[in-house]
Amino acid sequence: MAITKFRAEVWENNLIDGNVHWVKFKLLEPLEIVFQAGQYGTYIINDSTRRTYSFCSSPQQNTLTETCVDTSPEGLGSQWLENLKKGDVVEFLAPLGHFVVDKESPKDIIFVATGTGISAIRSMIADLLSGEIGGDRERKISLVFGVRDEDHQLFFEEFENLAKEKTNFSFYPILSQPKKNWQGKAGRVNNILKTLKAEQLINSKFYLCGNHEMIEGVKKQVLGLGVKIEDIHWEQFY
Ligand SMILES: Cc1cc2nc3c(=O)[nH]c(=O)nc-3n(C[C@H](O)[C@H](O)[C@H](O)COP(=O)(O)OP(=O)(O)OC[C@H]3O[C@@H](n4cnc5c(N)ncnc54)[C@H](O)[C@@H]3O)c2cc1C
Repeated sequence: MAITKFRAEVWENNLIDGNVHWVKFKLLEPLEIVFQAGQYGTYIINDSTRRTYSFCSSPQQNTLTETCVDTSPEGLGSQWLENLKKGDVVEFLAPLGHFVVDKESPKDIIFVATGTGISAIRSMIADLLSGEIGGDRERKISLVFGVRDEDHQLFFEEFENLAKEKTNFSFYPILSQPKKNWQGKAGRVNNILKTLKAEQLINSKFYLCGNHEMIEGVKKQVLGLGVKIEDIHWEQFY
């Protein structure tokens, strides 16, 4: 689809963890969008301000788009999204971006996300695991997802359920600053990657989404373990 200016109405806007809002937009004009999982929209906030947010919804859901915003930067973009009310009309340009899954590759897939970096990756996972389009059951799909603490378990339940349902999907959550009663893994996403077999790493394509520090840290780690640079794809949010 050529880059198009969409008008859309806010359908829902909910705070889903300590500081993340999940905003759903019903398309008004055009009524449908065609995008590839991992792509984003650029929202027109005012005449001089635009901000970019990945779609966190599946491309198969083509009349309603979803975005997750971390409101902690408290800048124009995150505050604007945080304060949108049901019925507000917005404009955005889409589809944009090249962070998309190579569906032709036979390699397994390791997604690594931190914070709202999960947006683009949630869309990719929904797309890949969909029974209708891109039902890619032969490839093993792993999600390594790092968040700060128990109050930031963004979509954890959804991924846990998916891991129970789909034999080719594994979910590895990790908390960087867990509180006292956390029974799961603690530390950086790199700690999880260390536990995976070298053979699995080398036979995978990596899709990383989040902040600069995480992306550079994971790239360095997996390149050091023999993964080729052409098998690492990333989208840096900040
Ligand atoms: C391709 C792309 C896709 C993106 N998708 C998303 C998305 O799905 N969800 C989302 O929440 N953000 C996403 N972002 C980041 C988003 O575009 C804005 O940069 C962010 O919301 C801050 O904008 P702002 O106007 O509130 O703050 P600004 O005033 O523009 O920036 C304030 C400061 O916050 C820093 N910053 C930006 N994001 C964060 C963060 N998450 N945590 C801490 N500091 C941050 C910036 O580097 C800057 O120094 C994406 C960025 C890119 C490039």
